[in-house]
Amino acid sequence: MGHIQLKQVKKSFGDVTVIPPLDLEINDGEFVVFVGPSGCGKSTLLRLIAGLEDTTAGNIEIDGKDATGLPPAKRGLAMVFQSYALYPHMSVRKNIAFPMKMAGMPKEEQDKRIAAAAKALNLTDYLDRRPGQLSGGQRQRVAIGRAIVREPAAFLFDEPLSNLDAALRVGMRMEISELHTKLATTMIYVTHDQVEAMTMADKIVVLQAGVIEQVGSPLELYRAPRNKFVAGFIGSPK
Ligand code: ADP
Ligand code: MG
Repeated sequence: MGHIQLKQVKKSFGDVTVIPPLDLEINDGEFVVFVGPSGCGKSTLLRLIAGLEDTTAGNIEIDGKDATGLPPAKRGLAMVFQSYALYPHMSVRKNIAFPMKMAGMPKEEQDKRIAAAAKALNLTDYLDRRPGQLSGGQRQRVAIGRAIVREPAAFLFDEPLSNLDAALRVGMRMEISELHTKLATTMIYVTHDQVEAMTMADKIVVLQAGVIEQVGSPLELYRAPRNKFVAGFIGSPK
């Protein structure tokens, strides 16, 4: 599970088309990075997949089923927001439990999933603390924990590390990659940072003004950038 297919997906805001019709396939278990300069449509594309924006035209299929008109909660995907989206008055445990509680999941199952997520994220000793008592990296892990417990078909990250300092970003980047290896679940990761794209991705999608300039592995893009924009953006010598 975690196969996502975009067919001629288009997005306009009023008269302005920010994403002309595009096709994109994301395979089960892939770590896909959307990269491109600010304003190129990365967040919009991710939000279309999440169901937080309606498509103007085209179709989105998730695991072979048409998900185009479905609300976010029915898509089986989890969007990981930046760590500041945590509830400050709730413990880590309650923050992680929140989506399960909302879904009416039995308490025992909630506890089981919290324990597993805490273990995977090295948060076991911090479950009774509040977000304000945690480091930036720990808070980011709680935000990821809240997504993990829903056992989504795919995780969607929108620049999750942009409000962390540089040193912490490097560590969190490695932790997210490690988590991807552990869970083997599809991850779509939006960034404007070429280094993040090149070090984390199985597959990079390079965007410019809503258009996909190239899709390929980091090595493919480095060795054979399709045009000057891709070459310049990913720092290829070509
Ligand atoms: P990125 O995430 O790559 O920085 P966005 O997806 O946020 O880019 O934005 C792409 C373009 O769409 C930008 O020109 C932005 O101004 C525009 N845009 C995004 N959201 C809206 C909206 N709700 N209404 C109007 N324009 C929007
Ligand atoms: Mg954005």
